[in-house]
Amino acid sequence: MEQYYSRDISCENCKHAYSTLKIKSRYIRPLSHDTDFCSTYQSEETNPLLYYVSVCPQCGYAVTDEFSDKFTSESLQAIRTKIQKHWQYKDYGQIRSVKTAINAYKLGIYSGIIKKEAAIVMAGLYLRLAWIYRTVEKNTTQEQRFLQLAVEQFEISYSTGDFEEKDMSEIKLLYLIGDLHSRLDQERQAIQFFQMVIQHKAKEKEKRLVEKARDRWYEIRAASKLQTTS
Ligand SMILES: [Zn+2]
Repeated sequence: MEQYYSRDISCENCKHAYSTLKIKSRYIRPLSHDTDFCSTYQSEETNPLLYYVSVCPQCGYAVTDEFSDKFTSESLQAIRTKIQKHWQYKDYGQIRSVKTAINAYKLGIYSGIIKKEAAIVMAGLYLRLAWIYRTVEKNTTQEQRFLQLAVEQFEISYSTGDFEEKDMSEIKLLYLIGDLHSRLDQERQAIQFFQMVIQHKAKEKEKRLVEKARDRWYEIRAASKLQTTS
């Protein structure tokens, strides 16, 4: 139990105060990193991905730290009629199985859609859920499904600029979009976004990412040449 701590949260919808478990940072030790910044962890007991979404036990409104506390009267009304009204008390604040964690993500995604949360926030939810399917569940079909939803939201975020309010640079966002396209075998789009990284006006500031994008660009070009000549 020592790796967990309890975080107090006040539900922005029903004002109920509840607590939810998180993993202490000193216990979070990734074993490896993928090109889309996905980390693999030793065990479910120290995997922070499982505790990313907080669910209000009283009303079912589920959030991440990235959710804004701003609501329109329409979004509050929609949360009440589409989530709260159908909710039966359930506590997600304890140690989670993978199945429970995935349910928490689905509640977070549903809450975000109903609230009309920013695209960058929705993308973060879809991407992390895809990572759970990749690293814990080893379910490629579900992984690809949520990677596709993530890349669509990241592209909306790029066009609206809502990523600027979060901890995300434009180069990192473009790189990530390119990487997700390549994971989805969408090579034309992957090349397009990696090129945007390579030619970006701020490329001197994030040399490592630009280098990675260049490597990936060459890899994809080489692979597609092989395919056309064979
Ligand atoms: Zn609530």
